[in-house]
Amino acid sequence: MVKVLIATSEAVPFAKTGGLADVCGALPAELAKLGNDVGLIIPAYTCVKEAAAANGIELKDTGKTVSIPVGNQIVTGKFLTADLPGNVTGYFVDQPEYFERPSLYGENGVDYRDNCERFVFFSRAVLEAVRALDLSVDLIHCNDWQTALIPTLIDAEYRITRGYERIATLLTIHNMAYQGRFWHWDMLLTGLDWRYFNWRSLEYYGDLNLLKGGIVYADAINTVSPTYAREIQTAGFGCGLEGVLTQRNNVLSGILNGVAYESWDPKTDNFLAANYDASDWQAGKAACKADLQRIMGLEVDPNVPVVGFVGRLAEQKGVELIAELMKKWSGSENVQWAILGTGSPELESELAKLSKERPHRVAAQLAFSNEMAHKIEAGSDLFLMPSRYEPCGLNQMYSLKYGTPPLVHATGGLKDTVTNATEEAIAAEAATGFVFYDYDLSALESTLRWAVTLYNERRDDWNDIVAKGMNQDWSWSRSANAYSQLYAATAARVKQIIDVR
Ligand code: ADP
Repeated sequence: MVKVLIATSEAVPFAKTGGLADVCGALPAELAKLGNDVGLIIPAYTCVKEAAAANGIELKDTGKTVSIPVGNQIVTGKFLTADLPGNVTGYFVDQPEYFERPSLYGENGVDYRDNCERFVFFSRAVLEAVRALDLSVDLIHCNDWQTALIPTLIDAEYRITRGYERIATLLTIHNMAYQGRFWHWDMLLTGLDWRYFNWRSLEYYGDLNLLKGGIVYADAINTVSPTYAREIQTAGFGCGLEGVLTQRNNVLSGILNGVAYESWDPKTDNFLAANYDASDWQAGKAACKADLQRIMGLEVDPNVPVVGFVGRLAEQKGVELIAELMKKWSGSENVQWAILGTGSPELESELAKLSKERPHRVAAQLAFSNEMAHKIEAGSDLFLMPSRYEPCGLNQMYSLKYGTPPLVHATGGLKDTVTNATEEAIAAEAATGFVFYDYDLSALESTLRWAVTLYNERRDDWNDIVAKGMNQDWSWSRSANAYSQLYAATAARVKQIIDVR
């Protein structure tokens, strides 16, 4: 059992811009179930206060305040607390000037100018919470650049402070592309000695890089899939920090995110035309397919394979490969496309054009719709995820559950969750989807052709692939077990090192 304080800038249901919020929303209660003593600490943004009220969660004033030097000012904040579902204690750092804003990190595509200052304050407040609230903590679990300064602060200041000597840190990196990089004068905000501003610590090509500091000083580091943990040690994926990551690879691992099956299970999904499960899926799935074809304006035909895609229309997601293939196939191949997404204006207009030209074959809904995302997961026959890179990815795990074999590029979490339908894997009844290896159109095309051939001509094998995926368990409890073990091992290692000193 570990006493852990999870420090994060986002957590469902309070504040969300990305997958970080899903992880920090689902993981705490699962960790508590395993017997860990779990606290979650997050800024008290406007949206946090609103979400707390909407969910009937009372944010109580602890009466404890904190005064933190940030640059040349002393910034005061207070700690709120709440009992969260699943035996988790929530702590909220209330500092209205920093956190009572319409958005988390910026507005109209522009970051807030004081983001460094805001998260230096938050990171210091997390550490001060231990003292102010008299918390007993074995490990602080930091997430992404916003809380990546904490391990550095421990190394520089807190390790020799009473009550902090044995606190271990874990840094989870959810996406290497966001590093908290600021100009060098922001070092003054951190309150750290300038000796930390060198290429072995927080300095990166003349700038301050908060994530880099976390990588250097955390006692353990993980990313959200084992493959991504390896990939980020290479130039193609490390976003410039591959060298530092390689140096620390003895404490670097990967733990897959989980699926919130309360929301993503075809057996209980209220958005679907029919519910189904692994033991009896054919009729239910057929009803969902007809419903999807009708809603999206595709020809209602049970025999044409429907290929689905849901996601951000961004380069990362490989949407330009999909668009190229749609163009190439639209005259000849007998498949339908059901696309849902928003993002790059160029990709949006390209998809809109294609669906206008071939309305019965190509349907593109350029919107954010949770309901449609569920309908596409259930009503498609095959789910496309040709991402260039993918730290973990959720949609492929949803589609496995929904009996919609995913077709993915062999990268990150996609590689770790999908077993390619080779003849050997089919014979061994291990296949759950389709994987292509070279990131180009011809690899995607030949893999999709293979999938369509299986669907059309080898329906028994196809059904085995569907059933195998539906029966898998990618739940959060799996991930929580892995985190729990990593916490325990890291906390024990740090205690041992400190006690020897
Ligand atoms: P990322 O975090 O890189 O966007 P993930 O696969 O980890 O990718 O998670 C994306 C989540 O957002 C999924 O739950 C997906 O269904 C959802 N999503 C993305 N785009 C849309 C959309 N246009 N409408 C509804 N849901 C969407």
